[in-house]
Amino acid sequence: MNTQDINKRIRLIMDLRNKGIVDTDVLSAIERVPRDEFVPAHSRDQAWEDMALPIGLGQTISQPFVVAKMTESLGVTDRDTILEIGTGCGYQCAVLSYLARRVYTIERHKYLQVDAEKRFEKLGLRNITAIAADGMKGWPVINGIKPEPYDKIIVTAAARSKPPQALIDQLKVGGKMIIPVGEPGAQILKLYKRESEEAYSVKDVMPVRFVPLLPDVSHEHNDVAVS
Ligand code: SAH
Repeated sequence: MNTQDINKRIRLIMDLRNKGIVDTDVLSAIERVPRDEFVPAHSRDQAWEDMALPIGLGQTISQPFVVAKMTESLGVTDRDTILEIGTGCGYQCAVLSYLARRVYTIERHKYLQVDAEKRFEKLGLRNITAIAADGMKGWPVINGIKPEPYDKIIVTAAARSKPPQALIDQLKVGGKMIIPVGEPGAQILKLYKRESEEAYSVKDVMPVRFVPLLPDVSHEHNDVAVS
């Protein structure tokens, strides 16, 4: 890494601090993940700016501030098993992989999932399991094995009115889920806490702009996706 790159990283971290991110573990995870590896070649110059960028297939890599805020809100520890819905390019997942024990991530675009997995491998992130599936249904039963409930769930695409029931069902009692909820243009990031088998508390975190959660797996492929 050259001095210019190091300076860009430091500038981003200072920017996130100025915007109110205080968790130093979250800030250092963001500093460690090479965001330039997650964006298309033609956007590399902007990779360390605090902005969302297109990654192809009409999807985006989230703004670092939003990644930081979602991660900080969950209060991730190194004992946590996390479920992420909406892998995209894999950036948020990579940040989580430095903080959690294990991260399971689901993406509905097969092409994006394959690409993200290649990045995890290249970066040596071995505590991530990635699949292409419909994340609105939660982690599937694979070879007869039902997943254990998760400590934390993070959804990086917006639900129309409330979190999918399958995700609520897969959250541990005491666990937290962060998810954007609402119509396009009026989404609020919400933090759910499962207080007991039946009861939840909900807190509004901030207004956000995410692509919508969509059902089913897509095998669509186009040339503008991240290479
Ligand atoms: N986490 C990413 C941002 C992803 S953008 C980052 O770090 O930058 C949202 C992603 O959610 C898109 O890639 C979209 O294809 C995916 N998505 C939408 N609905 C989904 C579903 N039902 N299951 C899994 N992924 C879904």
